[in-house]
Amino acid sequence: MGKLTGRRALVTGAASGIGAATAARLRSDGAAVVTSDVAADVDVRGDVTDRSFCLNLVNGAAEQLGGLDILVPCAGITGVTPLEALTDEAWERMLDINLHAVFRMIRAATPHLKASGSGRIITIGSTLSRFGAAGMTAYGASKHAVLGLTRSAASELGPHGITVNCVQPGAIETPMTQPTFQAQPEFARYWTDKAALGRLGQPEDIADTIAFLASEDARFVSGQGFFVDGGAMQGQ
Ligand code: NAD
Repeated sequence: MGKLTGRRALVTGAASGIGAATAARLRSDGAAVVTSDVAADVDVRGDVTDRSFCLNLVNGAAEQLGGLDILVPCAGITGVTPLEALTDEAWERMLDINLHAVFRMIRAATPHLKASGSGRIITIGSTLSRFGAAGMTAYGASKHAVLGLTRSAASELGPHGITVNCVQPGAIETPMTQPTFQAQPEFARYWTDKAALGRLGQPEDIADTIAFLASEDARFVSGQGFFVDGGAMQGQ
């Protein structure tokens, strides 16, 4: 018996990187998982910026699984653009995927998680949920807001037995970041040197933390943001 045997989960952004590793880890812990992404090779394909898709995805997953206990809205994008060159369209797209869709997924999942009696929501923030970085105003705004959304949702949903936490990865080697690490080795070196553990993160480093927060072991943990960054942000 795995720690998540009998639990029912929905993971978005599950075709790649952290989302794919999370779906695999939740499954290996015994959970029944529905995976979704705009890309192929998942159970349900669709774009989280499509409002009706989010609602249909959540309700469809709950119907297929016989309920829903765990939501991991992991779909996200990044981008580096100087403030003055950032278009309204690029700003809105970043916020739509990284923030608005997370809200829509949480809103749609809430009735099912209430019915579960011990629901778990794990959002994906960033070190930029607390800090800033040049060229990353849209991304940083979206990830600060995800942490704020997480905390208020935790306050509101706690009385229903639902915990809500935000995992804040450091520099993780995924298809999102690999092109940058390859094109700018000094960027990879900066993060490797900054991490107390002296390496970049792997998607499984984040998936394992998400699995902990999804488990009964984390039953009294809610409203928190966790840096999972090899000690890069220690003490901050
Ligand atoms: P990734 O690019 O490997 O995976 C992101 C997935 O989201 C992709 O499969 C993509 O198709 C999907 N996606 C993007 N837009 C979508 C949309 N509109 N609808 C549905 N799916 C969509 O990236 P990753 O590094 O695994 O990132 C996952 C999450 O982790 C993101 O929220 C990201 O911001 C966050 N994060 C990553 C890092 C890192 O260093 N990799 C650091 C901090 C936070």
